Amino acid sequence: MRIAVLSDVHSNLHALQAVLAEVDAGAFDELWCLGDVVGYGPRPNECAAIVRERATVCLAGNHDLVVLGKIPMSAFADDAGIAALWTQRALDGDARTFLETLEPLAMRPGAELFHGSPRDPVWDYVLSEDAARYTFAATSEPLVLVGHSHVALELSSDGLGLYGGKADAGTQLELSGPRRLLNPGSVGQPRDGDPRAAWLEIDKETGWATFRRTAYPVELTQGEMREQGLPEILAGRLEHGV
Ligand code: ZN
Repeated sequence: MRIAVLSDVHSNLHALQAVLAEVDAGAFDELWCLGDVVGYGPRPNECAAIVRERATVCLAGNHDLVVLGKIPMSAFADDAGIAALWTQRALDGDARTFLETLEPLAMRPGAELFHGSPRDPVWDYVLSEDAARYTFAATSEPLVLVGHSHVALELSSDGLGLYGGKADAGTQLELSGPRRLLNPGSVGQPRDGDPRAAWLEIDKETGWATFRRTAYPVELTQGEMREQGLPEILAGRLEHGV
């Protein structure tokens, strides 16, 4: 069983298509999405349609829920709020219906999935030692997957210590060892200094997880964002991966 784990697509169709081209070439059995299909980017309907079609499981992220009106727009800073309002207007009925079905957490055999964390599946960022320790303590499966921070991360716990940190492209981990807490990073708006689309490959046969990065035509997404009048800061950051 080979699983492609994606998160934080954020309406970036060109990034999603580039990742899926590699997924299609890699004989994956399942695709898991950890939420924030929409928000920030210019192609929400296409991204929602593709994820709906392809994903075995998809979580709701804070951006998905804001666009649906399930959490208030006031929860967002200026640029995210402007993009969320734009997305609300642009979202078609099919995309809305799909997003309405999503929950911010899910279970799969041997794995617990959260957009944020078990402390707060919608909002909590696993970026501190405290949040990581809480997450390990509040879960029991060998593998815990989180999104939301847009930073590819690999942490492990042997019950005493906490190990790991940022996961660069190509990082490989054996899954048979200590419990793992992994964040695949973001497909559509990476914030760890590498502008390539981030995702995670899990191979249950070999027992290895591999952090992947996929280059995509950033300028096409930027052009679409500028055409739609989305905030320039959101377009500009994509080429720097911040
Ligand atoms: Zn996000």
